[in-house]
Amino acid sequence: MSTLIMKFGGTSIGSVKAHTQAADIVLEQAREWDRLVVVVSAMSGVTDLLIEGAQTASHGDDQTYQGVVEDLRARHYRVVNELLDGNGEQAHIQASVDQYLDDYAVFCNSIHVLGELTPRAMDVISSFGERINARILAAFLRQQGLQSEAVDSTELIITDEKFQNAVPLMDLTRNHVKRLLTPLLKRGVVPVVTGFIAATENGVTTTLGRGGSDYSASILGVCLEADEVWIWTDVDGVMTADPKIVPEAKSLPLLSYNEVSELAYFGAKVIHPRTIQPVVEHDIPLRVKNTTNPAHPGTLIDQNSEKVKSTIKAVTLIEGLSMVNVEGRGMMGVPGIAARTFAAVASQGASLLMITQASSEQSISFLLPMETVESVLHALWEEMALELARKDIEKIWARDDVVIVTAVGAGIRETPGVGARIFGALAEAEINVIAIAQGSSECSISLTIAAKDANRAVRQIHEDVILESG
Ligand code: ADP
Ligand code: ASP
Ligand code: MG
Repeated sequence: MSTLIMKFGGTSIGSVKAHTQAADIVLEQAREWDRLVVVVSAMSGVTDLLIEGAQTASHGDDQTYQGVVEDLRARHYRVVNELLDGNGEQAHIQASVDQYLDDYAVFCNSIHVLGELTPRAMDVISSFGERINARILAAFLRQQGLQSEAVDSTELIITDEKFQNAVPLMDLTRNHVKRLLTPLLKRGVVPVVTGFIAATENGVTTTLGRGGSDYSASILGVCLEADEVWIWTDVDGVMTADPKIVPEAKSLPLLSYNEVSELAYFGAKVIHPRTIQPVVEHDIPLRVKNTTNPAHPGTLIDQNSEKVKSTIKAVTLIEGLSMVNVEGRGMMGVPGIAARTFAAVASQGASLLMITQASSEQSISFLLPMETVESVLHALWEEMALELARKDIEKIWARDDVVIVTAVGAGIRETPGVGARIFGALAEAEINVIAIAQGSSECSISLTIAAKDANRAVRQIHEDVILESG
């Protein structure tokens, strides 16, 4: 029995045209596969607006969220009215849009009154976009004669209580999927499942992290033992660079799981970093395809693709970072400095993106999101108060406005001189490299550079190293 999971991103279902293209693709694939499951995100920009409304409400502003409600009502109505027949489900789906937006307004009002926005409330707030969109797409598919039903993934994907970045409990999830989704599939229904959202065992809404609908698709893929998982987006697959920065970026036909993990982790937004892990374990191929150009093969990601060697395949960028430096001539003699440093970082819930240790300069440096740096610095000053007083550590400080540029490719580990070529490219563009690190999987090299040089560095590496080696 063949099974396919297809996820449509916000850009692929953010307008009348996009919904129509997505529905055409679903209708076509429904004929090809025994079982088809569709996963949808919110329309593009909707989750951002939902969050903005709640955040402003928590800061005492009771106007912005009301504007968001009207904005979202207008936007969803436009799509519903154009897609759905007035004699059919149009009124019913409109009522459903109203209901969700009313609920959202009630939540925002409480947040405004309480003046507090918890991660738990944030997850409920940000779930409405997916809930609405799944209903619109399922109704549109029904209108075209396909048996289809919207399903809330809060009924399927069970997670821990790590709100905003929840971790699925796979055994429970598998049981729920078997109990709820399998009977629908047996009846020939194409479920349209909400991406991004999930629930705890007690039914409290959680989310899988921003951009997490890709991850939802791969979780369902594993639970249903799917043959393939397809991620439909607005570009021709995973590319040699973000086409918004490098217009001449090319689509990569084949990538390994390792390469894609590295690319996603280091900022290639096209796929959520956690998407890979479930499918790798079950060796399920993943495809990334373009909704607006479905004939293009896109990118195939599987176990075999690593054999296709090309030294560096892509270059990525993570922005909005700070580099924290712990420096001092005496510090290397003090045991456990690194462990205590990272424990202090962890105590602030900050995620480290890159670590470098320059033994000659006697320093440890690491990168983290700019918004976490202040609390991390305070935690470090406190933890190292004694060493600072003794001058074993001379200073602990941060440099803001840096980025990580990463070159990725499975061939890197076997090819000497790759680093030299990257540095050559940057030297030519007179871009200063602040720090370097090589990924543990050895299929990437990451550089820290000043934010002002970010796009230029990406373009230069793309032109001098990727296009040359391709
Ligand atoms: P969706 O709404 O479909 O989930 P996203 O905006 O999350 O779409 O991801 C698609 C976007 O990722 C593209 O429009 C592109 O600008 C960006 N992107 C960043 N790096 C890459 C890359 N290496 N290859 C392709 N797209 C990339
Ligand atoms: N709508 C969610 C977000 O904007 C999930 C996703 O797009 O995958 O983060
Ligand atoms: Mg996305």
